[in-house]
Amino acid sequence: MAIKDDCIFCKIANHEIESDYVYEDDLVCAFKDMNPQAPVHVLVVPKDHYDNLVDDVPGEVLAAMAHAVKEVAKRTGIDKQGFRVIANTGADAGQTVMHLHFHVLGGKKLGEKIL
Ligand code: 5GP
Ligand code: ZN
Repeated sequence: MAIKDDCIFCKIANHEIESDYVYEDDLVCAFKDMNPQAPVHVLVVPKDHYDNLVDDVPGEVLAAMAHAVKEVAKRTGIDKQGFRVIANTGADAGQTVMHLHFHVLGGKKLGEKIL
């Protein structure tokens, strides 16, 4: 298991630091963002450390993250109404935590649609 020292999401994903978990399996976990930008704001992260989507992320990890997004949406009740998934990647996107994560946002009409 490739875990990076001093990475906050490695610690949360592997229960060295506990968080408010919504979903977990062997490869990934999902927990509530500490600074929510919507009524539902959950982060989906792999248990192994990858910096972001331009790291060498195995397909099975990406598949597990996609599966977790669906589970999070169902468990938080936003699957029918809709939601947004964001992966800030690198400096221009303003990525602040350098451990791959998907933001799952929903529970209200989301503004500022840029694509
Ligand atoms: P980024 O800007 O890298 O895409 O997003 C990082 C996100 O992680 C932010 O939304 C921030 O609120 C969240 N975050 C940072 N540290 C922690 C933490 O220790 N616990 C939780 N639950 N969320 C965190
Ligand atoms: Zn990490």
